[in-house]
Amino acid sequence: MRQILIVEDEQPIREMLAYALRRAGFDVCEAEDSHKARIHLTDKRPDLVLIDWMLPDMSGLELTRLIKRESATRDLPVIMLTARAAEGDKVAGLDGGADDYMTKPFSPRELLSRINAVLRRTGGTSTEDKIDLGGLQLDRAAHRVTAGGADVPLGPTEYRMLEFFMLNPERVYTRAQVLDRVWGGNVYVEERTIDVHIRRLRKALEGVDMSHLVQTVRGSGYRFSTKDDGA
Ligand code: CA
Repeated sequence: MRQILIVEDEQPIREMLAYALRRAGFDVCEAEDSHKARIHLTDKRPDLVLIDWMLPDMSGLELTRLIKRESATRDLPVIMLTARAAEGDKVAGLDGGADDYMTKPFSPRELLSRINAVLRRTGGTSTEDKIDLGGLQLDRAAHRVTAGGADVPLGPTEYRMLEFFMLNPERVYTRAQVLDRVWGGNVYVEERTIDVHIRRLRKALEGVDMSHLVQTVRGSGYRFSTKDDGA
């Protein structure tokens, strides 16, 4: 289930949003200020964050900037909510890194359509159950990976890694980013551990002639690509 974090200090509004999103099938978490939101973000990464502009400790705009500045959360979609309809504010919100911007009051229906549009656009949080890329099929419901009908036996970590890569293909991720996205920000794992799991993943993919899909990008990190890595 996709999770949305709502950052809003006004309880009635927060509850109204949470209610509408739960009804639409989202898992919802709530934070009443930036501080709590940041704790939540290190704990468990949501699929999208709704951030109110006016927060008691740090403005929603500053929080958005922070999220977009840190490599671990940079690609986390953010929708800013505000009571301020000024065009300058909207520009500031989007310049601050927000993926979309909504002016109160809005209907839950409008919010949902914006959320779905942002999730579609940002891609990384696809709701698809089956991904088929480069000859590799990943069934997210069954946690099963196949290639041309043959099973690819994977350990749980290798599976999560491959799922992450297949949801975010053709993009280079540093070890720190992979660590954060696959293990979660709160776990202490050495970055070298990632190389070990990458090796295991490639070994499993070798069995079906698919190890070329997981590519090392020298000096940067790793990428899942269906294109030739040029190596
Ligand atoms: Ca507020």
